[in-house]
Amino acid sequence: MKIKIDRLKEGDNSVTFDQDSLISLEIKDHEILSGSELTLVVIKNDNYLHITGSNKVKYQEHCDRCGNEFKPTIYIEIDYVFHLGNEKRGNSDNLEIIRPNENDGYLIFDQYYIETFYLSLPLKKLCFYNCKGLCPKCGINLNTDSCTCDEEKTIDPRWEKLAEFAKKKKK
Ligand SMILES: [Zn+2]
Ligand SMILES: [Zn+2]
Repeated sequence: MKIKIDRLKEGDNSVTFDQDSLISLEIKDHEILSGSELTLVVIKNDNYLHITGSNKVKYQEHCDRCGNEFKPTIYIEIDYVFHLGNEKRGNSDNLEIIRPNENDGYLIFDQYYIETFYLSLPLKKLCFYNCKGLCPKCGINLNTDSCTCDEEKTIDPRWEKLAEFAKKKKK
């Protein structure tokens, strides 16, 4: 995902990336499987670049409750401001500094896309909204199977010691 910054004209520019450039991104634990075309609008105003754009991607995920793999889709919304040069101007923490001479005049956008991807991930990763998860005793997947583990007899391992202690006391 490269943007040729030394050839940008003042005002609006646009750069488009196809699905292949999304799939080839190295995203740890969340491989992108497919995605819609990404068009970035690059507005150049003197030494400032404002880059916006959005697309949808489907990626690989594991359910927090049952551990199964599933393939959710999320919406990615890019919004970055860059300043061309060596120094930080102003006090904005959101301003990224780029040096046009690095990378042969290209802005490598991968890390910014990946960062936005991570920020877009939902906090809860569930294969579906009321996934029943795994039985804590036998480990069976309660979405597809059922077991005979009696819930009343199941003791949380954290309380096991205490339960033993209570038994001894009764004797
Ligand atoms: Zn699940
Ligand atoms: Zn069970």
